[in-house]
Parts: sequence; C-alpha cells; structure tokens
Amino acid sequence: MSQLKKILILGAGYGGIVTAINLQKQLGFNEAEVTLVNINDYHYITTHLHAPAAGTFPHDKTRVKIDDLLDGNKVNFIQDAVTKIRPDDQLVELKNREEPLAYDYLVVGLGSAPATFGIEGLLENSMVIRNINSVRMIRTHIEYMFSRYRNEPDRDDLVTIVVGGAGFTGIEFVGELAYRMPELCKEYDIPREKARIINIEAAPTALPGFDKELVEYAMETLERRGVEFMIGTPIKACQEDGVVVGDDEEKIKAATVVWTGGVTGNPLVADAGFEVNRGRVQVDEYLRAPNYDNVFIVGDSSLIFNEETGRPFPPTAQMATQQGINLAKNLVTLVRDGGALTTFKYEPKGTVASLGKGEGIGVVGKKKLFGWQAAQMKKIIDLRYLYMIGGISLAMKKGQF
Ligand code: FAD
Repeated sequence: MSQLKKILILGAGYGGIVTAINLQKQLGFNEAEVTLVNINDYHYITTHLHAPAAGTFPHDKTRVKIDDLLDGNKVNFIQDAVTKIRPDDQLVELKNREEPLAYDYLVVGLGSAPATFGIEGLLENSMVIRNINSVRMIRTHIEYMFSRYRNEPDRDDLVTIVVGGAGFTGIEFVGELAYRMPELCKEYDIPREKARIINIEAAPTALPGFDKELVEYAMETLERRGVEFMIGTPIKACQEDGVVVGDDEEKIKAATVVWTGGVTGNPLVADAGFEVNRGRVQVDEYLRAPNYDNVFIVGDSSLIFNEETGRPFPPTAQMATQQGINLAKNLVTLVRDGGALTTFKYEPKGTVASLGKGEGIGVVGKKKLFGWQAAQMKKIIDLRYLYMIGGISLAMKKGQF
C-alpha cells in the first residue's frame, strides 16, 4: 500500500487546474499522489464563453485538453462526474466508479450553478452561459430561431433575444450579440431592425457596483449597437414563450431567453454538509471549509468577505486563480510537513469587460479604460492566463489576437 499522501482535486476549472498545475511544478516524483477529477477531458476558459455563445468565436478555441496541461506521471486524471462528497469518511463518490475515491487532502473546485432568485420557470425555460455544451446550444438555438423567421414571418418572438441580468456576463454577452447581429440578420435575410436584443436587470443600474462613468459608457455603446435595456425591472417569471417583467407583469415574447443573473455554489458542496452561505462555503484564511482542516474550497463555491466593504468578493476567475496558486503552495507544505501555512490574501488586479469586438470598459489599478484600450487589455489578461497554464504555445494556439 502506498504511504504517499493523497491529494484529490475536484473540478478542472480555474481553481482546480491552477492548483493541479502548480502542484505538478512544485512536487517531486513520489512526493504525493495527486488526482484530478473532471467531468470533461478538457479545461475551458469560462471568461471567453460569451463569445462562442453569441457565435463570434469558435468554441474549440475556448477549451484545452487536460492531457496537454498535465504530466500524467505527476497528476493522475480521471474523467468522471462527482456525485457525492463525504467529508466525514474522507471519500468522494463518482458516477462511473463503484469504489469511492479516498483522500488525505481534498480540493473542491466544482464551480457554480445558476442562482434563480426564486424566479418561476427560470431553469426550465432559459439557457445559461456555463460551459461548452451550454454555449454551443445557445448559438445553434439562436441560429435555428432566426432560420425559421422567413417561414413564420408573423413570429417576431423568433428574432427576439432576452438576456436576463446586466452584470458582467450579461453585458459581455449582449455586446458580443450586438456585434454579430448585422451579419446574422444578413445571413437569414432578416431586416436588422426586426431583431431585438433586450437586456433586463432588476437592480437600479447595469453592472451594479461598477464605476458610474464606465457603466454609462457601456450602456451608450451597446444602445448604439441596438441593445435595449430594461433596468430596475425584475423578471417575475420565465415561460416557454418569453418572460413576464415588472410590477405591471408585462409579457415579452421571446424564443430565446438567456439567464446571466448570478451564480451560487455547486449544489454538491451543500449536499456534502458543509456550512453554506447562499450556496457557497465561507472558507478560512487557508481556504479551508469550517470544521474540516483537510478540505479546501476554491473558486465560485467558496466565499471570502472583503474586510473593507464588509461584502463578499464577487466570484471571479481572478479570485479562483489566486486561490489555486496559494493552495498549491500550502499543500506542498502539508505534504512535506514543512511548517506554517501561507495565509490567502486576495489582491484584485482590476476588472475588464468586453463590449463586443474592439470595445470594452475596465479599471486596472486606479486607471479607467474605455473602448479599444479596454478590449486590448482584456486580450492581454486572457493571454497571460493561457501563458500561465500552458506556456507560449498555448497562448499562441488559443489566444485572441
Ligand atoms: P469553473 O471555472 O466553473 O470550473 C468548474 C469545473 O468543475 C468545470 O471544469 C466543470 O466541468 C467541473 N465540474 C462541475 N461539476 C462537476 C462534477 N459534478 N463532476 C466533475 N466535474 C465537475 N471572471 C473574471 O475574473 N474575469 C472575467 O472577465 C470573467 N468573465 C466571465 C465571463 C463569462 C461569460 C462567465 C460565465 C464568467 C466570467 N467570469 C469572469 C467568472 C469566472 O469565469 C468564474 O468565476 C470562474 O470560472 C470560477 O472558476 P472555478 O474554478 O470556481 O469554476
């Protein structure tokens, strides 16, 4: 029997893959038994997903084979779905394995699930920008609805797209859609003015919490490209043929509804019995789950409060990546029995949102970025990430130039 410590990583998203890659770099052969479990045999660049969803970027360029990132001699990869985490038994159950996997240290990086805020019919009748399969479906669904319009010209709903939520994901998606719309309408012989993109947000502003001047710039840019905003307008229900909005319960008929209004932790973490706050686990300074010193939660399923504002940090790839780097270092320390762990401190480097090709907004340090400058910065951030996980060749292969 191997006496090596078993590190089990669940999920190959930003948090999970960065932990695995850094462990692979820092651990010598036979220092620990590291296993990564992921539902697909690829890692996807979630921060790009709005583009393949709108059909402006090939979905294949947003994913990377896990085998291309990991050395099989150092990290054992299992493609399977996690079905249950049993922290009291130190076991994890998988869909296609009878024997559960045992661990000494567990890293949970299973990402998020859509937050529905109790909106009736939302999960059944809308699509979400969540993974490769979901964005491929959104793109082909929109194209199919547009292709039907010339055959059913009274059905304006076929060319009406409702996007619920004007946070970062919603704004990036409508930006990309607005950019593609002229070409899409041309392809299906639809007058541009017939096709509608309606972005609906319950909060009193788009991009809540973001700099006011940048929000105004984003909304003006997108309105110029034909996006209609309904801000301060809650979606009350989502139905097969559209959404019901506002206090007067107005019905908007739309054959495509995409929900981007927020995420909660992966339900597997609550099912495991970890204490959750709106579906996410409030981790300690070493990213540990309460009451379990050997369970670490990274990414969208974890919750960390910003001491300055008293509010949680939003779940981002930036947060998940920094957590993965810190955690790998601490796991190496634990495996080597090498003394004190390093406290995790999130260092926000800025935020940049794309508004469709060549347009964006952002804040980096104290500097505000608009338009082309922000769009370039977004590309640099993405390239930097690709370089970090897969070196120059991956950046060249999958980057947007
Ligand atoms: P994820 O990256 O979601 O990965 C979770 C992994 O777990 C996936 O590989 C999934 O397949 C796997 N998994 C899930 N369930 C199971 C299971 N049961 N069994 C096995 N495997 C499973 N953040 C930024 O910082 N900057 C941005 O510009 C930005 N833009 C965004 C744009 C869009 C369109 C979206 C959707 C998000 C954006 N984000 C951005 C947020 C960011 O993508 C997430 O915060 C980040 O992906 C979270 O990383 P994670 O590791 O928690 O999970």
